[in-house]
Amino acid sequence: MESHQRAAETHIIALPFPAQGHINPMLQFSKLLTSKGLKVTLVTIIDNELTKAKHGSVIVDSISDNSEENGTISTMEEYWKNFSSLIERKLSEIVEKQGKSGRPISCLVYDSIMPWALDIARRLGLAAASFFTQSCAVSAIYYHVYEGRLNIPSEQTHVSLDGMPPLQSYDLPSPACGSEYSPALISLMTSQFSNIREVDWILVNTFNKLEAEVMNWMASQCPVKLIGPLIPSTYTSKRLEDDNDYGLSLFKSNNNSLKQWLDSKEACSVVYVAFGSIASLEEKQMEELACGLEKSNYHFLWVVRESEQKKLPDTFVNETSEKGLIVTWCPQTEVLAHNSVGSFMTHCGWNSTLEALSLGVPMVAMPQWADQVTNAKYIADVWTVGVRVKVNEEGIVTKEETEMCIREVMEGENANEFRRNSEKWKTLAQEAVSEGGSSDKNVEKFAAELKCI
Ligand code: UDP
Repeated sequence: MESHQRAAETHIIALPFPAQGHINPMLQFSKLLTSKGLKVTLVTIIDNELTKAKHGSVIVDSISDNSEENGTISTMEEYWKNFSSLIERKLSEIVEKQGKSGRPISCLVYDSIMPWALDIARRLGLAAASFFTQSCAVSAIYYHVYEGRLNIPSEQTHVSLDGMPPLQSYDLPSPACGSEYSPALISLMTSQFSNIREVDWILVNTFNKLEAEVMNWMASQCPVKLIGPLIPSTYTSKRLEDDNDYGLSLFKSNNNSLKQWLDSKEACSVVYVAFGSIASLEEKQMEELACGLEKSNYHFLWVVRESEQKKLPDTFVNETSEKGLIVTWCPQTEVLAHNSVGSFMTHCGWNSTLEALSLGVPMVAMPQWADQVTNAKYIADVWTVGVRVKVNEEGIVTKEETEMCIREVMEGENANEFRRNSEKWKTLAQEAVSEGGSSDKNVEKFAAELKCI
């Protein structure tokens, strides 16, 4: 059989966890695979309308969520049980239907936080790839915990792990502010490694030069392949046509004049503030942040999701309308790529971090929980592309601290160094995903191996 004929027949299922920070990189990876001649069906639980959005030639197949029919789901265990049985039913249907119509599925690429998907893949006779949407450093930390070499929370003040700088306990993944570590959460994070020796491929959304030392150590434990940064190609390799957005947003933007607003500002003069799709700030924290932004006197673009809007101080929007723009959501990569944006105040979600590194934007790191804390450590002390805020004894970042950190990144004595380093990572990120780059080669190899099974 001709090789291009075989390629056209290779069909895989991509299975992200249904949250924005997990869907985005999986969708981007799927687009890359279609550009290499594979057929990809991305399966997730989303509003049916979104399946019609633009996502290259990736087919999006949505599952209707029957959790309401099943009554209230109160524990994490119940959630996963219901979710995994929904997935298994849907995947069985797709595999059977596609098999009958001559487009058989050969592989399942699943989000690593759903390790049970490997069992489903095997029951359906599919090869399987586990797809990690967190950094290599964070994966290594969870792996150490899984292997029983490290506890989180850690009683040690300094933790020394292979391939990583010395870490303090506050650099290790943590629970949300004010909540306790639940054993269920720890087990969710560490279970990513429960069947790592049985899976056919391990893919991580990061790139070799960004995490060289820890990647080498991870590679000595299991065959990880780094395939990132998975962000819209217009801003990196430009190899996918017209690819300036991920294309599947669970949130709606409420401002049509955003581009105009950004265009009207001078280069590097705007502070962009966004905390991703999940993080929720306490009202007191919103107030301090709002005051700090105002006091810094910079132009700011602040994403305050619909559910967070009520926490904004009453008169803030009107009083700062000259300086600031508040939106409920925005096309973040497009914003970060805009030349008016001078810094990014971020919760350090892994996608946001990778996007800022790949687009060369210095950061004010304001981590909230989980892996964000470790990402913040790397932003400030390893990649040296910004500063990390300090919290006071109540766990709050005060207005004074907010103002000071913004100034440090926009105009402080290290601002030039942050900008130079950001430019360096931007170049290296682009190299990694461009033709012949380390991540491009890994994606190419993965696609070639899939075509042979
Ligand atoms: N994002 C966006 N618009 C916004 C805020 C966030 O498009 O206004 C995107 C952002 O580009 C990133 C994702 O949402 O790809 C958030 O993922 P991340 O890992 O940074 O954070 P999470 O939401 O998982 O905490």
